[in-house]
Amino acid sequence: MKIDFRKVPLQKKDFLIESNSVKFLGSFSKISSKLVDINSKIEGNVDVSCCKCGEEFSKLLQENINFLLCDGLYTSDDERDLDKIIIEVEGGVIDFEELLQSELESFRSDYHICKSCENSDTKLDIEF
Ligand SMILES: [Zn+2]
Repeated sequence: MKIDFRKVPLQKKDFLIESNSVKFLGSFSKISSKLVDINSKIEGNVDVSCCKCGEEFSKLLQENINFLLCDGLYTSDDERDLDKIIIEVEGGVIDFEELLQSELESFRSDYHICKSCENSDTKLDIEF
């Protein structure tokens, strides 16, 4: 789903996108001529790889994310924006799939441990 920055309504509009059983849903609205606020939730099972053995496994992702999209360069220093993910939109078009994919990428690059490595860690702890 793509939407023209200028066409984002001032009133909150709901959205829902699904990609490989991962749901990306929430609402978005324009808060100024250059800023769009997205309150979203990402939910679903994502394939990640174990940082110890490299084995791929599925892990539940459940996260509330507040995006702040800026048409062009973000220049405000509003402290309320600090806990938001700020994205500078190029070309005046907001691409929701791209937002979702970049969040999935950063989730995948987090530190994940599969069940069997987790268990072998526990065993080591007991032996020591
Ligand atoms: Zn592992």
